[in-house]
Amino acid sequence: MIEQYLEELNKQQLEAVKHYNGPCMVYAGPGSGKTTVITHRVGYLIQHYKVDPNKILVISFTKAAADEMRLRFESSYDWLLHGKQHVNFGTFHSVFFRILRSYYRYDLSNILNEGEKFGIIKNIVRTLGVGNKLDDELIKDIILDIGLFKSNILNIDDFSPNSMSKDDFNRVVLSYENYKNDCHKIDFDDMLTKCYELLISQPTVLQAIRNMYQYILIDEFQDINSVQFEIIKLLSSSKENLFVVGDDDQSIYSFRGAKPNFILEFDKIYKNTIRIILNLNYRSQENIISTANKLISNNDLRIKKSMLSTKEPGVDIQLFRPKTRELENKELSDLINSLIKEGYSYSDIAVIYRTNILSSSIVDSLLDSNIPFASRENIYNIYEHWMAKDLVAYLRSALDINDREAVKRIINRPTRYITNKAMNEADGYHKDFITSLKVKGNLMPYQISYLDRLEVDMKTLSHLETRKAISYIRKEIGYDEYIYNYSIEKQISTNGLIEVLDELEETSSKHSSIMQFINHIKEFKESLYDNKRNYSYKDNQVELLTMHSAKGLEFKVVIIVEAVEDIIPHSKSKDEESIEEERRLFYVAITRAKERLYIYAPLNKYDKKAEISRFINEMEILNEKKSKLEKGQEIIHRVFGKGFIESINKSMIKVRFCNNNETKELDIVTCLENNLIY
Ligand code: ATP
Ligand code: MG
Repeated sequence: MIEQYLEELNKQQLEAVKHYNGPCMVYAGPGSGKTTVITHRVGYLIQHYKVDPNKILVISFTKAAADEMRLRFESSYDWLLHGKQHVNFGTFHSVFFRILRSYYRYDLSNILNEGEKFGIIKNIVRTLGVGNKLDDELIKDIILDIGLFKSNILNIDDFSPNSMSKDDFNRVVLSYENYKNDCHKIDFDDMLTKCYELLISQPTVLQAIRNMYQYILIDEFQDINSVQFEIIKLLSSSKENLFVVGDDDQSIYSFRGAKPNFILEFDKIYKNTIRIILNLNYRSQENIISTANKLISNNDLRIKKSMLSTKEPGVDIQLFRPKTRELENKELSDLINSLIKEGYSYSDIAVIYRTNILSSSIVDSLLDSNIPFASRENIYNIYEHWMAKDLVAYLRSALDINDREAVKRIINRPTRYITNKAMNEADGYHKDFITSLKVKGNLMPYQISYLDRLEVDMKTLSHLETRKAISYIRKEIGYDEYIYNYSIEKQISTNGLIEVLDELEETSSKHSSIMQFINHIKEFKESLYDNKRNYSYKDNQVELLTMHSAKGLEFKVVIIVEAVEDIIPHSKSKDEESIEEERRLFYVAITRAKERLYIYAPLNKYDKKAEISRFINEMEILNEKKSKLEKGQEIIHRVFGKGFIESINKSMIKVRFCNNNETKELDIVTCLENNLIY
């Protein structure tokens, strides 16, 4: 009987599980059992209310989450399904595509994957002359814009793009739509909009689908966007058997058009909604919950709800402040190894970061320490970036001036005014391309002097250590200035590009010789390839995730890296509304932890001082290790505010406080034991 599976549920959870007909919304914080309630309710509908399993539709946001839910359901309730019966678990995309396919006879070959879409839009931008073929960031922004206006079901004339001028954007979109029509292709955005158009224009199709899915359950409802909700409204409109669970504090997809308001206004749209609130957290130790509560209470745009723990306080949250990124990566591997010695297994541990760009250096250090890892998403291979390829081409040319491909790549970056004509004429003359150009290229004296300079620079580079060499290319050869001018000309963010260069320079520092670095890039690519091939997230390996993809998951140990300003909150987030979304993102990340939470906030980033994330201060983590106190470090004193440690002397620290620029001598143990500084 099903009752045995429901024994551990609390009263509110049971009420949700036993809900039968009509709209119901479960509104609750992380770890309170929302996803758990969904799986049990499906079982209950089948066993107790005798609902046909085939008529139940369960939607989650990612394929991983939908698969996970199916597994959880099957592991408890497999015995409820007979013969061909099955429950439909899927993502919005998979469900809507199924609907489209039944009507339009699409098959998988009609779908444009994200990589193909990127290539096509890049081509269109190039052909129309509205961007530059090198600029991948622009293409990504255009793709985000297309997704935004489609997910809001807006007429293109009413949409203000962020990526480029309205006219240019309209032209790109028009060409893209024509291309797809001509080739009979649809992309992921179209799966939603075309499904919506189909259902509003074909009442018989709508009726058939309504009959097919009589009970609809949606997880992570706070991240639903307009077009998704409109479709769900159409499907559920006659019986209103719609059961949604969500948490406005975990809404993290507004950049894709998600509307957390839908969850807050759900009972206005469905007047008979039964509203159930769960406030017990079953996932995390009490320390983690109270810290998470402190953090999220800093958001103004929310409905206040408190989360209570069901667990012991547990181990203190640990904040580490290594001096550099390199040390952070090394300490991260050491920490994982010590957790393994303590008895945790690799798959108990998740390393979570804000932006994918940070994953390359983490992978570097895990590979060095032979720690098995996996990722559900693509690990960012920074060395595939076109600017990385430019820098590597410089390094290759420095090692071997006869490497024609490499020399050609960088000859005009920054520009040395060498025309294609000159290059064609020089081709094939001498194995040293620069010499060929000088002899055969019909160059003017000023062009020759640029090449002379380049030859001198190459010689200098060949004697430098990798990191110094990269810095030399950027600062002395003028690559940074070239990128700066390039971004101004293309009206794209300079910061985004410089961030990639900084990250490259920083990750290169581990390899002192240029040759070593070049070999490492090759190995990196190969091991990523092997990793992808062997990937199965059920294996015993540390999981690497962005904060976004961590949503809905849980791990015994969570390690968050790079908790510094400009990373989290991200430098792109300027206004209060986006800071609140970043805070929710951080909240999602820390509430994944069941037992242990470790946070790294290095003191320096890219050779500059890094400010600790404001979110850490808001969380009031006070137990920073005494041994971690060091000269120059920023501290916050509960009474005296922000200050910097001027000196450390046995048990005392001398701190200069920013308020009045005065110094004070403080007893370290008293400060730490009374949580006076953090
Ligand atoms: P999130 O918002 O992060 O997605 P959630 O609300 O969906 O969280 P679940 O993942 O369903 O939470 O549950 C969190 C954990 O608590 C799971 O490990 C689940 O098995 C456990 N759990 C849920 N309800 C209970 C209960 N009544 N007794 C014991 N454990 C429970
Ligand atoms: Mg959940």
